[in-house]
Amino acid sequence: MAHAQDILKSPPPRRPPKLTSRRIGIHTSSAGGVENAAERAYRLGCNTFQIFSSSPRQWAPYELARPQCEQMLRLREKYDLKPLVIHTNYLVNLASTTETFLKKSIEAFRGEIERALMLCADYLVLHPGSFKGANREKGLLQTAAAISAASHGLGLAKGGLMILIENTAGAEFSLGGSFEQVAEVIEHVRGQVPVGACIDTCHTHVAGYDIVSEQGFLDTLAQLDATIGLKNVPVWHCNDAKAARGSKLDRHQHIGKGTIGLEPFRRLLNDPRLAHCAFIAETPIDEPGDDRRNVAALKKLVG
Ligand SMILES: [Zn+2]
Ligand SMILES: [Zn+2]
Repeated sequence: MAHAQDILKSPPPRRPPKLTSRRIGIHTSSAGGVENAAERAYRLGCNTFQIFSSSPRQWAPYELARPQCEQMLRLREKYDLKPLVIHTNYLVNLASTTETFLKKSIEAFRGEIERALMLCADYLVLHPGSFKGANREKGLLQTAAAISAASHGLGLAKGGLMILIENTAGAEFSLGGSFEQVAEVIEHVRGQVPVGACIDTCHTHVAGYDIVSEQGFLDTLAQLDATIGLKNVPVWHCNDAKAARGSKLDRHQHIGKGTIGLEPFRRLLNDPRLAHCAFIAETPIDEPGDDRRNVAALKKLVG
């Protein structure tokens, strides 16, 4: 991500940001400590947000201090920020066929769960992984087994934490390029851990689903309902796409500026079947203020 002007360094807003009937937010920087993300999210006009609870491309374990978690909770209550979504580190691959890498991934994912519980997060988003060296079916089974192993004994249900399997662009060996694959992981894990799905609009589009035409959008939602079930999708990642439908190229674009365009987001945000969902942008920051503009673009679509 480009260097953004940190919203924490500008004076706080004089009036509280206008909110909508939908939960709308953005992936927010945790620079200076995770608790700072809550203040940033509020100033960006969000009523929900997503963070990384550790450095997203490093293995180094990250220890959260109790006061940080308390401050996070205080700010979330003060600003009515819910749900809190945590995105798992990108290095974690629970489908890895390399024993040492799998062990490392399971340990790291266990750390993700522990931090999510400490932060009283509602959801922990996970990419189902890459099956390179095996086959897709084995990969899906292994990811499911690794989720169970990593979460064993941690009390997710008691802590109010749910793991969400995210659909992916489906390139090469990556798992989760179809709703069926995400549903399969969920089926295997269900009963052991609270589990659901996070659906990313960019991934769905470049994986080949039609969400752009009105009929295509309805058909895709029907397919989602028939496989994963709409009630099992509490979080959407709202990203426009730089690449074409079916390209399997995962490049996020600003809302309304890509190959998806504004209308599908309007349909998504106003669909009464999705009123329970949180909608979170993971859009690029090319210019200072892009984060605020993308949140505003989504909010403006709520009718
Ligand atoms: Zn996403
Ligand atoms: Zn993506």
